[in-house]
Amino acid sequence: MKVPLMNIQVQYDQLKTKIDDAITEIASSSKFILGKETEIFEREIAAYCDARYAVGVGSGTEALILALTALGIGKGDEVITTPATFIATAESISRVGARPVFADIDRDTYNIDPGKIEEAVTPRTKAIIPVHLFGNPCDMDRIMDIAGRHNLKVIEDTAQAIGATYNDKKVGSFGDAGCLSFFPSKNLGAFGDGGMILVNDGGLYKKLRLLRVHGTSEKYHHSIIGFNSRLDNLQATILTVKLKKLDDWNERRRRVAKRYDEELKGLVETPSEANKGRHVYHLYIIRVEKRKRDGLMKFLNDNGIESRVYYPLPVHLQECYKDLGYKKGDFPEAEAASTETLALPLFPEIKDDEQRYVIDKLKKGLKACN
Ligand SMILES: *Cc1c(COP(=O)(O)O)cnc(C)c1O
Repeated sequence: MKVPLMNIQVQYDQLKTKIDDAITEIASSSKFILGKETEIFEREIAAYCDARYAVGVGSGTEALILALTALGIGKGDEVITTPATFIATAESISRVGARPVFADIDRDTYNIDPGKIEEAVTPRTKAIIPVHLFGNPCDMDRIMDIAGRHNLKVIEDTAQAIGATYNDKKVGSFGDAGCLSFFPSKNLGAFGDGGMILVNDGGLYKKLRLLRVHGTSEKYHHSIIGFNSRLDNLQATILTVKLKKLDDWNERRRRVAKRYDEELKGLVETPSEANKGRHVYHLYIIRVEKRKRDGLMKFLNDNGIESRVYYPLPVHLQECYKDLGYKKGDFPEAEAASTETLALPLFPEIKDDEQRYVIDKLKKGLKACN
């Protein structure tokens, strides 16, 4: 048997007629940029995510860049984030000319440790970017409290966590801005790149709408220096079809995760759901001893099971960031996670017998790696 880490093909197969019809409609209308479909999807996503407004942009990375820009963050500013994330989080900070400052993660949730945020605050700190990593909500009560006391903006990197809640409210709606990614393998994936910024403030909303379209106030009149970053109507119409299934898919992800939890308890460290949070398991991460991790992955791979490390090198140790001056040992929890964790196959449509096979092989693999 072969079990992939994720499978995005089956969702298209399920929705083929609806998606094909939606694509045909856009193709026949020849209205590709910032049309009715994008507006409809923005309204639906805002409502779904408990936010007042949503602005569709070119990607999750650009969502972060535009949010930072709209909040006035740039040269000379510091932004605190986690070293255990996809590069885009830190990259966006650097792209606006600010400096990423890392704070270590909590061992159990893999999310930024609020206590460590507080230690990293300096007079130059302007914002915090918490990342709801793997679909697990950050401790937003504490993060918003720290932000309030130090007068910092909060931009939630919600790329992996659409639909997750904290205190029964959707993540992405707590901070000044929440950034979503519709990269094809995310919990809500487009047929290409796409992103969204969630905001509650009307002024910020207007500014983001200007920024994404060259700062255009009226045709060929530009009030601010902008970008070209828009979610196109094709992606929006596809995503509108898929959004209706998102709760069902996330619920299935939770069920698959629960089965792994029950079957693997005591054998490996299973993910912990954050206090007050509802995890949507973008990825299912287990933790084993460092000496076993790579052997276990090889054993799984030899048996047709795909697993992957998220992420093998923490951001503070990336070559592109050598000028920041961080070194090995600076963030022990993030570094340990990079050598002790792996993601197991999890997608809403994984079959019972496929998951059974993964569990059985994993148990065998753990014995073999002893
Ligand atoms: C995917 C991802 C992004 C970037 O999203 P893109 O749409 O690929 O640009 C940012 N942050 C995190 C944590 C992600 O997983």
